[in-house]
Amino acid sequence: MPGFELFGDEERREVNDVLETGILMRYGFDSSRKGIWKAKAFEEAICKTFGCAFAQLTSSGTSALTTVLAALGIGAGDEVIMPSFTFVASFEAVLSTGAIPVLADVDNTLTLNPESVRKAISSRTKCVMPVHMCGSMADMDALMEICKERKLLLLEDACQSIGAKYKGKWLGSIGHAGAFSFDFVKTITCAEGGAVTTNLEDIYTKCDGYTDHGHTHIGSDRGAELHPFIGYNFRISELHAAIGLAQIRKLDRFLAIQKKNHNQLKNILSQIPEISFRTIPDPAGDSCTFLSWFLPTEELARAAAAEMKEQGILAGNFYWYDNNWHYLRKWDHLKNTQTLNNLNEPQKKALLKLNETSFYASDAIISRCISTQIGLLWTEEQAKEKGEKIVRAVKKALHASAVKS
Ligand SMILES: *Cc1c(COP(=O)(O)O)cnc(C)c1O
Repeated sequence: MPGFELFGDEERREVNDVLETGILMRYGFDSSRKGIWKAKAFEEAICKTFGCAFAQLTSSGTSALTTVLAALGIGAGDEVIMPSFTFVASFEAVLSTGAIPVLADVDNTLTLNPESVRKAISSRTKCVMPVHMCGSMADMDALMEICKERKLLLLEDACQSIGAKYKGKWLGSIGHAGAFSFDFVKTITCAEGGAVTTNLEDIYTKCDGYTDHGHTHIGSDRGAELHPFIGYNFRISELHAAIGLAQIRKLDRFLAIQKKNHNQLKNILSQIPEISFRTIPDPAGDSCTFLSWFLPTEELARAAAAEMKEQGILAGNFYWYDNNWHYLRKWDHLKNTQTLNNLNEPQKKALLKLNETSFYASDAIISRCISTQIGLLWTEEQAKEKGEKIVRAVKKALHASAVKS
């Protein structure tokens, strides 16, 4: 998965271009920058690569989500439906706009269950935000139909699934807008950065201003620009953008390696009849950053994870049910409204209500799931060895459970 594994001369060359001029900021200084515009070039590459009309770089994936939610007009009193299984950044962004994150169940796609989304819709719902978790996609046809029928905005959190496709379209380019992250552990990285993608010019123009204190970016005198609305500073630097530019050019290579290693691992794990795999709405579009698999019960999944830990092979394998950052079971800070400053009352009420809400449908999925991260540097031999070690650990867990019963 992580692009940092193949960091090299290409990235160093792009960064050096920026160091030569010393113009580290993406805007202005036109005469001193000698025609070097890395953020602009990276945005153009994003549009070209992912088939979207507009891209706005930001300082992180979290700020990309915050920015696009604001640009979509989502704020105090509005509800955004999102999954119970995601990285905390998804709800952080919603809360930061003043809106309410409404959590819906996931199914064995590891993404939003469309039926659960339908049940979560209220008169205050404004947006559905699927999160394309662990390299692969939500059931976009079903979600698009719901959004069309109920006149809701569709925002794709594609931070973990750069390079994945659904029915021929890149994730992040299907809904009203999408968000990418280029943080250090993502498929392509620029250390810290993110992007909003959209085909709607109006949304793009708002994102462009919002990430830079409301600047219009019209004319060549920055100080004289107008501020039609209040914005913030979520700008990316030229140094970060330079690295991203080098990485996006390597994306095809990353994806090809991931597919190969993923398929090899999947073949090995398929030997065990008790293992089943994540449902992928369009298998050909999987970016293959992870192989996500299930055991029949929570007890068995837990035992397999424990056995993998015992054997020292748990690194790179994620048992999400016990993970502090990706599943709502451990989001006590969210459920107890542990914030540094005041939330608005509707937010507080909605979050406290999470304590009384049952997510047993999500629990039944996540408690049985382990995701194995796919390395870019694995040799065929190493991939085989990793797979065989997982198989041994799972067989041991299955055997121990059979003996007990
Ligand atoms: C990484 C991630 C983000 C946030 O990205 P940062 O660049 O780390 O702020 C948002 N959503 C998901 C699903 C992520 O995995």
